[in-house]
Amino acid sequence: QEDDFKKVISHAKEYGYVFQSSEIYDGLSAVYDYAQNGVELKNNIKEYWWKAMVQMNENIVGIDSAILMHPTIWKASGHVDAFNDPLIDNKDSKKRYRADVLIEDHVAKIEAKIDKEVEKAAKRFGDAFDKEQFLATNPRVVEYQEKASSILKRMGTSLEAEDLEDVKNLIEELEIVCPLSGSKNWTEVKQFNLMFGTKIGASAESAMDLYLRPETAQGIFVNFLNVQKSGRMKIPFGIAQIGKAFRNEIVARQFIFRQREFEQMELQFFVRPGTQKEWYEQWKETRIKWHYSLGLGQDNYRFHDHDKLAHYADAAADIEFKFPFGFKELEGIHSRTDFDLSSHEKFSGKKLQYFDPELNESYVPYVVETSIGVDRMFLAVFANSLQEEELENGTSRTVLKIPAVLAPTKAAVLPLVKKDGLPEIAHEIIEDLKWDFKVIYDEKDAVGRRYRRQDAVGTPFCITVDHQTLEDKTVTIRHRDTMEQQRVSISDLKTIISKEVDM
Ligand code: ATP
Repeated sequence: QEDDFKKVISHAKEYGYVFQSSEIYDGLSAVYDYAQNGVELKNNIKEYWWKAMVQMNENIVGIDSAILMHPTIWKASGHVDAFNDPLIDNKDSKKRYRADVLIEDHVAKIEAKIDKEVEKAAKRFGDAFDKEQFLATNPRVVEYQEKASSILKRMGTSLEAEDLEDVKNLIEELEIVCPLSGSKNWTEVKQFNLMFGTKIGASAESAMDLYLRPETAQGIFVNFLNVQKSGRMKIPFGIAQIGKAFRNEIVARQFIFRQREFEQMELQFFVRPGTQKEWYEQWKETRIKWHYSLGLGQDNYRFHDHDKLAHYADAAADIEFKFPFGFKELEGIHSRTDFDLSSHEKFSGKKLQYFDPELNESYVPYVVETSIGVDRMFLAVFANSLQEEELENGTSRTVLKIPAVLAPTKAAVLPLVKKDGLPEIAHEIIEDLKWDFKVIYDEKDAVGRRYRRQDAVGTPFCITVDHQTLEDKTVTIRHRDTMEQQRVSISDLKTIISKEVDM
């Protein structure tokens, strides 16, 4: 697993997808740059989302609000008071951990151990094997698992003082059952606010303290009435936004999964009070279908319904994806009630109500939110697509099977040799295709090696121009996933490619 993940990270660098930020200065931790291919994949993910959410829905519109906002917004939203991570330091190693993440890791390790035991026992007992009964006969492990999951349930909202003590005790106990850090010596758990502060204004006296937004959602809430009025929107309707968010994450690891600067794609869907549960269910279904449509494999997704809810929610679930380091949150779907709009009414003193002509009354709408990280989606697509394939002739190839609709480059055009007018024809093909698709030219090395390079970078089609092309205006088109080659007419290329790559 760890090795697979290392391969993902080094492949992302080697093939121009993701670089460490400020690398020549030894990097800035948990901040990344998207390279020439990465930016194309990222843009395609955003476009795929935007089309499904905004273009395909008459009652959803988009906005692009500023990253800097009035500081009182973060009081109203609860971020000043409650946007905290519980931290714990290890006195021996001097390492700092996020307590909830550390517990999660313990739980995962224990679960893996139990799975192994279950697997072994199942083999031994065959048909007579009863998993429930077997688990009940391993009380020690089960006890710790239960303890850990009850603590995990309490995390996610700001923890009470006694919980923090619990958390420390639990970590110490878990370290004995299932050592991760190899140490017993821990500090108290402390809360740490995740918002980045900055200042607006030049002089010290007039400067105002601001935060970089930790989520894009609030930009939508504070514009709710502006959009509703100027767009003459009728409830139910949605406002979508894609944009950067910033969190001073303490445990910054797992590559682009947890970054300090990242991007979110969020929808806030405004509904009549009392109908939020139906809309919440509906959006869970719509969003999982969106994921399935990309073909990354339905087994790689699962829902995680929250028992313990954040201060603003009356129902919440995550869509989890099987990353190289296990199932983790990819998207959150939250029924946010009227918490945000009501709170902004209080803090701003402005009414944020909707007049419902059918009911002939005004109310503060309820909100169902879907929130997905662009970077996590990028990692899901990228890691899932990277495959090492054994070929029939005993060799192997590295292939990045990115869904064709998302692939950075749709086709590479390759002259078989660098002479006899073949490069000129290749360039003519590019001139024609580039209006519709991102296409590139490559003439370096033998054609087999060029195919391998395009496989590794994830290009769904290679178009090869050879001497026969001079005679009958046909080329070979090679499919990345099957490696099949077809002889087709140059004039059919656009149709063939469109069929696979159009959103
Ligand atoms: P986590 O528990 O993993 O920290 P979260 O519950 O805080 O995530 P939300 O506040 O619900 O996340 O944010 C919505 C989405 O934004 C997440 O599902 C995730 O895809 C993305 N996201 C959140 N934090 C980060 C981050 N630090 N780096 C990259 N993406 C992030």
